[in-house]
Amino acid sequence: MAGYAVEAMYLIASFLFILGLKGLSHPEKARRGILYAEIGMLLAVIGTLLNKEIVSFEWIVTGLFVGSAIGAAMAIFMPMTAMPQRIALSHAFGALAAALVGIAEYYQHLPNVSPGMMGALSAEVLLGGLTFTGSLMAFIKLQELMTGVPITYKGQNVSNISLFVLAVGIGTYMVFNPSHEALFIGLFVLSLVLGFLFILPIGGADMPTVISLLNSYAGLAGAATGFVLSNNVLIIAGALDGASGFLLSVIMCKAMNRSFTNVVFGAFGQISPPPAEGTPQKVAVRSGSPEDAAQVFKASKSVVVVPGYGMAVAQAQHAVQELASLVEKNGTTVKYAVHPVAGRMPGHMNVLLVEANVPYDKLIDMDDINPEFETTDVSLVIGANDVVNPAAKTDPSSPIYGMPILDVEKSKTVIVLKRSMNPGFAGIENELFTRPNTLMVFGDAKATLQKISDALKTSVHE
Ligand code: NDP
Repeated sequence: MAGYAVEAMYLIASFLFILGLKGLSHPEKARRGILYAEIGMLLAVIGTLLNKEIVSFEWIVTGLFVGSAIGAAMAIFMPMTAMPQRIALSHAFGALAAALVGIAEYYQHLPNVSPGMMGALSAEVLLGGLTFTGSLMAFIKLQELMTGVPITYKGQNVSNISLFVLAVGIGTYMVFNPSHEALFIGLFVLSLVLGFLFILPIGGADMPTVISLLNSYAGLAGAATGFVLSNNVLIIAGALDGASGFLLSVIMCKAMNRSFTNVVFGAFGQISPPPAEGTPQKVAVRSGSPEDAAQVFKASKSVVVVPGYGMAVAQAQHAVQELASLVEKNGTTVKYAVHPVAGRMPGHMNVLLVEANVPYDKLIDMDDINPEFETTDVSLVIGANDVVNPAAKTDPSSPIYGMPILDVEKSKTVIVLKRSMNPGFAGIENELFTRPNTLMVFGDAKATLQKISDALKTSVHE
């Protein structure tokens, strides 16, 4: 009876996971989707705790408390801008858990490990191990504990692929000869080394794409664990995770107009050396004060806000919402143009703007907003750089050539808020900043937006 109840709980949990994923496809339904997935996870955990094979709850309860405390602290104290590395850490621990369960199950079943189980164990340990060190490396790079610049050496791709083929070879050999304990441990060590080596040549800018790929591996490792433990919810959840993580990385590659192999093997993101000291600036930049910007807004009828990574760094989402309300009171329309890879993780800008109560219907996707720039009075670029760089359309030698961008340069005036002339994540100059219709307002985005709002309020009262 209990067995049927557990299976029913697992089935409902799986259904809720699917509903959760579906909800994430639209910002309006995303919160509800997360709630479904959370309830699903709760059911899966309760179902697992009802398992009759559990002999003692002490370690489980201890793990629950320690894990929950760490998870809650990470959620509360890690800033939104650190979300990609937080996710990388979660994947690392999930994958390590899968690999450790695999090792434990191997020793528990020795010498009677069937070929089917050995295949699942090999996949679990290989994917779990490489996802563990790969995700840790992604965390270290994104947290800037080491350089985010790709680290490359001669023959790197060939040696990495050869080692991976060797690991798959060992896994396959083990299926037919499961009693080779030393080889099994060797496979685990090799997978740890592989995770480290695979991430070395990948630049910090590509890390979110890679994290989503690692997410997919962690899911597959989880599904393999499900086969080993004959646990249906793990198989389903792992497969969902594996497929959705993979699809997300494909979608991100598409949005950056890069191939999958270019991201994984291309060592993208080498920083071009800064110009030598004393090199004269090629074109003068037109810069102005927040008060100048306020005057431009006063005279405009349509504004498109273009947020980027700098808005997240400055936590300027509330300040931009306040400015938008002021401008709208003046009869001006305000829309928000969201580039699919603006920021550092998928949906980064949506999350921040929705948090600041910007209505969903004002968040416009790139393809829909691009035809509107030509008739837009002001494009307000807040800490965005690569996603508005015209070099993506005009300069075939540019590393971002071919990436679809927001056509802000077509609007009558472009106001750019950033702190300096420093490049964005791709490490390249942006010719938009020197165009005659561009006004640069230098400073922290949040402080600048507040000054523009203050200037607008003052001018209304004058
Ligand atoms: P960029 O990284 O191109 O530019 C961000 C800009 O923000 C910088 O030029 C910086 O200039 C400015 N900035 C930083 N802090 C502040 C601040 N406090 N106030 C004002 N400005 C600030 O960001 P984009 O969003 O345009 O582009 C995202 C990049 O990340 C793309 O290259 C994309 O391919 C990549 N990427 C994104 C992924 C995603 O999922 N979103 C995944 C993988 C890659 P300054 O220092 O002068 O202030």
